[in-house]
Parts: sequence; structure tokens; C-alpha cells
Amino acid sequence: MQDRTSSDPAIDVLVVDDDPLQGAIISGVCIKLGYRPHFAASYQEAADRLAADRYDYVTIDLSLGDHDGIELLRLIADHDTKPRRIIVISGCDQRILNATVRMAHAVGMLDTVSLPKPIDLTLLRSALSTLPESAALRRRSDAGAACITTADLSRGIDNGEVYAAFQPKIDLASGKVIGCEALARWDSPTFGAVGPDLFIPLAEQGGLIKAITFSMLRDAMRFAAAFIATEPRFVVAVNLSASLLSDTSLPEEIEHLLAEIGVPARALMVEITETTAMADVGRAMDVLLRLRLKGVGISMDDFGTGYSSLSALARMPFSELKIDRSFVKDCLTDADMWKIVSSSVAIAHQYNMKVVAEGIEDTATWRALDALGCDIGQGYEFSRALPQDAFVDWYRGWTARHPGEAAAMLQRGA
Ligand code: C2E
Ligand code: MG
Ligand code: MG
Repeated sequence: MQDRTSSDPAIDVLVVDDDPLQGAIISGVCIKLGYRPHFAASYQEAADRLAADRYDYVTIDLSLGDHDGIELLRLIADHDTKPRRIIVISGCDQRILNATVRMAHAVGMLDTVSLPKPIDLTLLRSALSTLPESAALRRRSDAGAACITTADLSRGIDNGEVYAAFQPKIDLASGKVIGCEALARWDSPTFGAVGPDLFIPLAEQGGLIKAITFSMLRDAMRFAAAFIATEPRFVVAVNLSASLLSDTSLPEEIEHLLAEIGVPARALMVEITETTAMADVGRAMDVLLRLRLKGVGISMDDFGTGYSSLSALARMPFSELKIDRSFVKDCLTDADMWKIVSSSVAIAHQYNMKVVAEGIEDTATWRALDALGCDIGQGYEFSRALPQDAFVDWYRGWTARHPGEAAAMLQRGA
């Protein structure tokens, strides 16, 4: 292999395989793509190379003689500089491959994909050539996050930099827009667009979560007020951190806000995240029950992630269950994910709850989930979260293309 120089912009691939023939085939594909392959025939050789250099891609054979690929994945996860994509290659059971990819995601290597053996060269070529920029962007935003303080966020809120974007919720059977979810956005002149996964935890730690939530509720209910004039059943969802549920005055404060804006309680759905983090279950129950009695819908967000637990489902007065997007994303190709999604739909219906699938990214998944009996969907297949005016434009276009229940029922011969 050639020497590496820091000024050279070529893409470097570390090929880890104890079978030299297989290594040569993968290296050949890399060379055809204009990349520079580096071969490691053992765990130790790969570990040494990873300690010395940075690679854009790493392909890993799961069985490496005396060590296994999982040990190597763990080693990579502990490194400060990670490859932009990891391709796990193995002849073992597809379930083991899927579980390996999930493990890699869980330890932060989000761009990990798998390929079965014998290698299909077309699949390998496509795994090596579709490198998204997201990994680099994620690194940059993680680095930025380290220097953002609660004081920055507080100033951002005061300056009106935090606002609500709206993502549609779709009735899967008819394609009708039944409502939307308000998602917090922060456009900071200093840090750029900061994602809620970064600033919501900061708000929770720094005592700013109530301020953000009420600003979101206000934006969301003003938006609902404009919609329900023509769509009386339109519901706008707002995320509510479980930590806020220890404040027993919350139902009345929300009721006042609804009255002030002039919208009925049924126009609001609150999505509760991290139900296991409810510090005081008795108080949380009190707050949720009173919200429900006032007519506000209550949704259990991120179901299945370990934050939203089965016992909370049985105890609390939820009206909707949202299956986390990590299960929906690959449910058509990963049998384990499909089992989780279909059981979640069945459980929700046993509790007379509506069920929402988050993260629907293609028409095939939409159709399959509709056939399964899932009620509502949300995801890039329909639209990303949009600022208010853009949502209204999107809504007009979508409604013109999907006239709704009547047409869908006629099509099915109902
Ligand atoms: P969530 O409530 O589960 O929101 C859904 C997330 O999935 C959103 O990410 C949305 O943009 C993303 N998403 C929707 N469809 C797709 C898809 O098809 N593919 C993919 N890959 N992603 C999709 P976002 O906006 O980054 O929000 C992340 C989380 O931040 C939210 O998860 C929620 O837990 C939290 N969050 C956002 N806004 C608020 C807020 O106002 N208050 C609180 N407490 N939490 C908030
Ligand atoms: Mg949500
Ligand atoms: Mg969710």
C-alpha cells in the first residue's frame, strides 16, 4: 500500500479481513472507486493502523480468527476520531448482522451498515459510494455543543431564536392530514441551527424547559386556531418533558393558555417522553389525568426505546402511542424490527389507543403499516418539520393530491 500524506485528499479505506482473497476483492472495488485501500489481516494489525491513522471507511469481517469484529467495533467506538462509515461483512445469520449494526448505532457509530457474505459487489460498491455528509456534520455540531451554555440558550429564547416547526401527522388509510407535531428549532446567529437533541437536555438541566415548552404551546395553539376554522378535528401535538409533570399547576396553566388563545382542549395533544424518568409517579398521574379530563390528548412518545415503558402504558391515561422511529426505519427489511412494530400496534389497540408510526421514509413502509392496522404516520415520506408558512403551502399541495377519506374508501370499494 502507498504511504499516506496529510495533504492528500484521497479517501482511505481500512479493509479488515483474515481471508486475504476476500481482502483483495474488497480492495479491488475500492481501487475501482478511486479510493485507497489499506489491508489488515488481523485484529492487532487493524488496531495498530487505527491508532496511527484516520480512515474514511472501515470494512470489518465479523470473524477475525482469534478475535471477533465486535471487539474491533468496540475499539473504534472508544477512539476520538471515528471513521465516517463502517461496513460490517459476515457470512453469519442475518439476525446477528442486524444486532451488530444496532450495537454499533447504540455506541454512537450511527453510520454502520452490514453486508452478507458472499459479497455482492454491486451492494459493496453502493455501500462504499453513498457516504453522507451527516457524519461530518454531526461531529461538527457535537463539537459546537460542548461550548453552548445555558446562558446562550436563555439569550436565544429571549431574542426569539427558538421557534416551532410543524411536521404533519397523516391518517395512513386515507392520506388525510389529521394534525401535526410542533418541534422546537433554534436558529442561533452564533452557533447556526442547533438541534433539539442538543438544546432540550440543556434546557432541562438549566431550568429553561418550562419557558421553552410554554413558548412552543403558544406557537402551537395559535397555529391550531388558524387551522380549526376549516379543519375542526385538526390536532397539534407539543412535546412535554416528563420532568414538567411534577408541577401540579400545569393543567390549569395550560387551560388558561388555551382559553386566552381561544382554542378547544381537543386541539392539543401532549407527547410525553422518558416516562421512566417521571420522578414522582403519583404527581405525574394527577397531572396527566386532569389534562385528559379537560379534553387534552396524551401521547406516549418514543415507545419501545426503554424510556417509554410498558408499565407506564398500563398505568397512565394515554390516548396515543408513538412507535419510535428507530424501529420503523428498517421494519420492512429487518424481521426483528417488524415484530416490535406489529406487537406495538397490537398492544396499543388492546388499550384502545391510536397508534402512530414515526420515521416513515418511503411509500412501501406507509402501505405495509397501513395494512398492519397502524392508524397514523409521520415521517419524511410526507414531510419534514416545516416553519409555519411553509407548512401551510405544503398542506395545500398535499390536500390537493390526496383528497382524503372519501376517495380512499371509494378506491377500496367500501
Ligand atoms: P420526537 O418527539 O420523537 O420527534 C420526532 C423526531 O423525529 C423529530 O426530530 C423529527 O424531525 C424526526 N423525524 C420525523 N420523521 C422522520 C423521518 O422520516 N426520518 C428521520 N430520520 N427522522 C424523522 P427532532 O425535531 O430532531 O426532535 C428530536 C427530539 O427532540 C424529539 O423527538 C423530542 O423528544 C425532542 N423535542 C423536540 N422539540 C421539543 C420540545 O418542544 N419540547 C421537548 N420537551 N422536547 C422536544
Ligand atoms: Mg414527539
Ligand atoms: Mg418520538
